[in-house]
Amino acid sequence: MHELAIAESIAGIIQQEMDKNGLVVFSEARVVYGQLTAIVPEALEVAFQCVCANTSLADGKLEMEMVPLRVECGKCKQEFGPENEYSMQCPYCQTQIGHRLLSGKELYIASIEGS
Ligand SMILES: [Zn+2]
Repeated sequence: MHELAIAESIAGIIQQEMDKNGLVVFSEARVVYGQLTAIVPEALEVAFQCVCANTSLADGKLEMEMVPLRVECGKCKQEFGPENEYSMQCPYCQTQIGHRLLSGKELYIASIEGS
């Protein structure tokens, strides 16, 4: 279950940032993830709650924000958002392969709130 490993590393980063900034009460972290990471936000939230049970992070929550998949056509250079990574036909010239990935693989913590 890959959400559990991700939840563990997110919790670790939040704890480090809290310590660095002298925060003791964690309230919320915004996690930005790309469509291609195949993260299920509900599963990640549940995993995060498991990882953080009985820790100082237990009362906080994750705010999940998905970055949609965007590519640039390898032939006509138009930007478009394919439905998924398996079917990437360019709506302008119908080319299916050779596109350049612009976004969709992100995974990072955008902000952490606490006091
Ligand atoms: Zn094209």
